[in-house]
Amino acid sequence: MGRVESVKTYNFGAGPAMLPREVMRQAQRELLDYRGTGISVLEMSHRSDTFREIAHQAMADLRQLYAVSEADYAIVFAQGGATQQFVQVPMNLSRRNDVVAYVDSGHWSQRAISLARELRSVTVVASASSCEYHDVPAIEDWRDYSSAPYIHYTPNETIQGLEFQQVPDAGAVPVVADMSSCILSQPLPLSRFGLIYAGAQKNLGPSGMAVIIIRRDLVDRLDPSVPSIFRYKDQFVADSMLNTPPTFAWYLVALTLSWVRRQGGLKEMDRRAKERSALIYSAIDGSGGFYGNRVSKRARSRMNIPFHLADSGLEKTFLQMATERGLKQLEGHRAVGGLRASLYNAMEVEGAKELANFMTEFAQRYG
Ligand SMILES: *Cc1c(COP(=O)(O)O)cnc(C)c1O
Repeated sequence: MGRVESVKTYNFGAGPAMLPREVMRQAQRELLDYRGTGISVLEMSHRSDTFREIAHQAMADLRQLYAVSEADYAIVFAQGGATQQFVQVPMNLSRRNDVVAYVDSGHWSQRAISLARELRSVTVVASASSCEYHDVPAIEDWRDYSSAPYIHYTPNETIQGLEFQQVPDAGAVPVVADMSSCILSQPLPLSRFGLIYAGAQKNLGPSGMAVIIIRRDLVDRLDPSVPSIFRYKDQFVADSMLNTPPTFAWYLVALTLSWVRRQGGLKEMDRRAKERSALIYSAIDGSGGFYGNRVSKRARSRMNIPFHLADSGLEKTFLQMATERGLKQLEGHRAVGGLRASLYNAMEVEGAKELANFMTEFAQRYG
């Protein structure tokens, strides 16, 4: 299929998601000859000075964006996605007989729980199941987890489109958060977290890599039976290069982090996220019931907006016409159906405007 050049496309896919166009163009320019070295990042030793500089710059930018000091938090770049972290977290932060605490707010927290159960006993201290995953379990209602080695939750549920508006204050218990679909989207009081992690393919770069920010004292709290390749401590000490890291993914993450800084940092990312999502929510709310979103208003995600048509028979037409307009990948996740617009950092506000306009026109035509 040839691409019609005059239609600008906007990619609303949930992940692997769009990267900033500027980052893609820079990667394209540098692909064959990285900054005069005569070789590509794809072909470069991870031990070379050139690659080390890329790697260290990425970590420094991440530290700068979250305002975390090297004394307090360690950064690890790991192979594999968030799913591997579902296992690495209980391996590293708990002992064999511990009962680890989790909050169930939707699809990805359930995946985290079920993988943790392969290693440990899990107590689920709150669940959104009672409200059919249309709201997050209020933090003040989470059951007591004070004897757990950590409490795990998912601040943004990518599939249900739920987002916590607050950060839990867990006292002495380390808070662990799967930030795969919301990392870099707002400033965070990082000191309230013991560990945050994110698969890269939503807001950071391509798939196949995860970023972990972990409080320094937790790096040492580990089960000695953990194989070294999975130990945060060993990975940290080896500069996340125990073996060959996914170098090209790391390079793209470095370009993206630098882009976020140039755009104005996390405050600006949050401002844009609110602007984009407000455009889509108002197209839904202003449609007189033509579109619907079942999520409670206080738990609406800024990043992923699942929605449906009152007449589900129109979905195919909607998707077809949207695609023709350059509005791509709006299909809902197969687990929940319907439609979904993912609006990560790389989505221009213009793209959300285009989608909102299209939704309103479509509703006028078929409503
Ligand atoms: C996408 C996603 C995952 C899964 O990431 P993988 O890299 O495929 O393992 C986990 N958690 C959340 C919140 C996600 O959005």
